[in-house]
Amino acid sequence: MIQPVIAIHGGAGAMSRAAMSPEKEQEYLSALESILTAGQAVLARGGSALDAVTEAVRLLEDCPLFNAGHGAVFTSAGTHELDAAIMDGATLRSGAIANVNCVRNPVFAARKVMETSKHVLFVGEGAEAFAKEAGLEIVDPSYFSTEARREQLLRVQRETPEAAVLDHDGQAMVARGQPAPADPLDADKKFGTVGAVAVDAQGNLAAATSTGGITNKQVGRVGDAPLIGAGTYASNKTCAVSTTGTGEMFIRMVAAYDVAAQMEYCGASLETAADRVVMEKLPTIGGKGGLVAVDAQGNVALPFNTEGMYRGYARVGEKPVTAIYR
Ligand code: ASP
Repeated sequence: MIQPVIAIHGGAGAMSRAAMSPEKEQEYLSALESILTAGQAVLARGGSALDAVTEAVRLLEDCPLFNAGHGAVFTSAGTHELDAAIMDGATLRSGAIANVNCVRNPVFAARKVMETSKHVLFVGEGAEAFAKEAGLEIVDPSYFSTEARREQLLRVQRETPEAAVLDHDGQAMVARGQPAPADPLDADKKFGTVGAVAVDAQGNLAAATSTGGITNKQVGRVGDAPLIGAGTYASNKTCAVSTTGTGEMFIRMVAAYDVAAQMEYCGASLETAADRVVMEKLPTIGGKGGLVAVDAQGNVALPFNTEGMYRGYARVGEKPVTAIYR
């Protein structure tokens, strides 16, 4: 009998540890812990891995500390374009949406696509029409905006206008004498995507990922998060994976599926496979970030090649474990 477990991330990036107040750090750790506790509760009452990751990602989307849903980053045009995906490891069914800006919880839209449509991925207006039709909560795009994110966009456009920036990377800015960022991970250089993976008591796996993308991204750009196999993947045969980082490189490496493929074809352990993708393969093309993964035996891997990653996991019956730095 498997001990069910859920693992989550809230993005990876460069740290501004020196500039970090213990209170701010605690705020992030507490948010991670309470979201893990909610996901763990779903698993503890016999809920499915799919329900556990949906609930965890919904809470991460609603939490303004993370770059998904409320608190999502801005595009170069000062708008929001949200992406999300979910996958059921038992059936390989999956659903995803990209480039939406009025669906309060993109993860719900992804799940509806998976459960009620014969398609896998909807984008833009079609995705929004699908979500409305499905009766999901629709919000004004301003719902996603926070002052902190708008300042972040203006700062990036002032200082590195050519760059589209990961949502958590600030130590470098502090070193350059620029104002210290307010997040434990530098808000301007972090990948703030959120994600969750879980295995339930039946041995079923699931993964979900949701993001605002990267600050100052070009309008219409889509990252790895909603692409099955790149940012999100789950199969009961191997593992469930959700990634965060420089999406373009994760797409080119088919990062999430690579972890599963190594396990399936080479018999690699979850830890070896996940480490190889994050610590060896992604860096060869400049890929920065990390992932969370669980396998069908309940093993957990949380590798990242940045200074930190908001992360944690919770086994049913045990206290959740959370961390930011290495
Ligand atoms: N991977 C995401 C993207 O490229 C960004 C992130 O992880 O924050 O859209």
